[in-house]
Amino acid sequence: MAAPKKKPAPAKKTVARPVAKKEAPRKAGAPFVKKEMTVEKPSVAAVPNKKQIQLLRGMKDILPRDQYYWKAVYEKMQNIAEDFGFDRIDTPILEDASLFLRGLGKVTDIVEKEMYVFEDRDADKVTLRPEATASVVRAYLQHGMWNQPQPVKLWYWGPMFRHERPQEGRQRQFWQGGFEILGDSSPVIDAMVIQMTYLLYTEFGVPVTIHINSMGMPEDRTRYKMELVQYYRAHRNETCEQCKARLMKNPMRVLDCKEEGCQPIKANAPQIVDYLSNYSRDHFMKVLEYLDELGIPYFLNHTLVRGLDYYTKTVFEVVTSDEEQGSQTALCGGGRYDLLIEELGGKPTPACCVAPGIERLILQIKKRQLPLPPQRLPKVYVAQLGDLSRRKAMVLFARLRAEGIMADQDFSKGSLKAQLESANAKKIPFAFVIGQKEVQEGTVIMRDMDSGVQETVDFNKAPQILKRKLGLEKAE
Ligand code: AMP
Repeated sequence: MAAPKKKPAPAKKTVARPVAKKEAPRKAGAPFVKKEMTVEKPSVAAVPNKKQIQLLRGMKDILPRDQYYWKAVYEKMQNIAEDFGFDRIDTPILEDASLFLRGLGKVTDIVEKEMYVFEDRDADKVTLRPEATASVVRAYLQHGMWNQPQPVKLWYWGPMFRHERPQEGRQRQFWQGGFEILGDSSPVIDAMVIQMTYLLYTEFGVPVTIHINSMGMPEDRTRYKMELVQYYRAHRNETCEQCKARLMKNPMRVLDCKEEGCQPIKANAPQIVDYLSNYSRDHFMKVLEYLDELGIPYFLNHTLVRGLDYYTKTVFEVVTSDEEQGSQTALCGGGRYDLLIEELGGKPTPACCVAPGIERLILQIKKRQLPLPPQRLPKVYVAQLGDLSRRKAMVLFARLRAEGIMADQDFSKGSLKAQLESANAKKIPFAFVIGQKEVQEGTVIMRDMDSGVQETVDFNKAPQILKRKLGLEKAE
């Protein structure tokens, strides 16, 4: 409705006054505006006096531009898991803190320094999971999965939390996928988990080496630790402070030491393979034989001791060489955990796992510019001119989707030029254009975006005609 015409005010010479001295009375229902406030539309991007809240240190958003990588890695893990007969499991991010205190071992870096532990509002001590194996075991026990035919093969995907010092490839929230096989002691299980892991990397084209070792059973380790401690004591003066501390608390962790000065001592240290029982040694040899048979290359790394207490017998890590930094990057770790289920209250049950870090795999794919499977892209763009044609366009879009044809649109736009530019920019091969004339005639213009050739087709037949054009359906 047009605004009522006001009587033109008589022309008067005036001087603009910045602010009215007296506040005009506020009309009923009008918003209250402070004198010094302006009534300008606030800018969405910058609201004055409001500090923007930033991400916590070590946390990252996964932005739309990266979702392509995440989807590819997720689908690869899912395919491998399904091909090897694994079922998906999702466990909560928040767990009872004692699950990890008992499961991972008190004298581990994760438990001592990195876990997010806090009291919730009921004063229960809870933890943001630092890894998922302990959670999977809890679920296996809690839901009586030990009653099912064994082994139980499970895979997961989700965020983990460790309060570490952030750097490239190291975050405080990071993602892991994982394969877990519970209820089977055969060495073929270890080999299968390694094979699945190997496929995950090599099918993307990431060159990897499997570092493998056996940590034996606790009896083997007791004998080995005595020898190791004796050896390191004899070289006390040549080792770093951290090695001295680790020797007291968790002796095998001295083999993790990266200090330059400790390397010669480490290289000549006693090796655990020489302290394995026949049972543990046979198991290890069998795993290696299976890997040989599968043609999976590995490197026997006698100093590989994984940071968690629950590992028994086979342990492995997948590493890739970082040419830029001339170093090796650990992409994932895994191994056998034959005592964890008992430790968490179950019957003695052998098991094996691996947990690939997702960010580190994506970093490799990006750095090496490896090709990923083609993305699902729209085959047709639906353009419209005005409200009436927009309604028809919405119907056509829904019909195309129901026919399994991926379409794109910008229904909020009015200009045909802008819409066709959008279709061009996205390299969409066809466009359907609906204007007033087409609405009246019950037709739609089908445009080949490459050649610009257009034809008018029946509105109701448009999806089928396009299908034929795209070679998705044969002509009758
Ligand atoms: P772990 O559970 O410690 O055996 O780690 C297995 C894999 O998870 C590592 O090889 C990394 O790929 C990944 N990972 C572990 N910690 C982090 C972290 N803080 N940030 C990013 N990835 C991590």
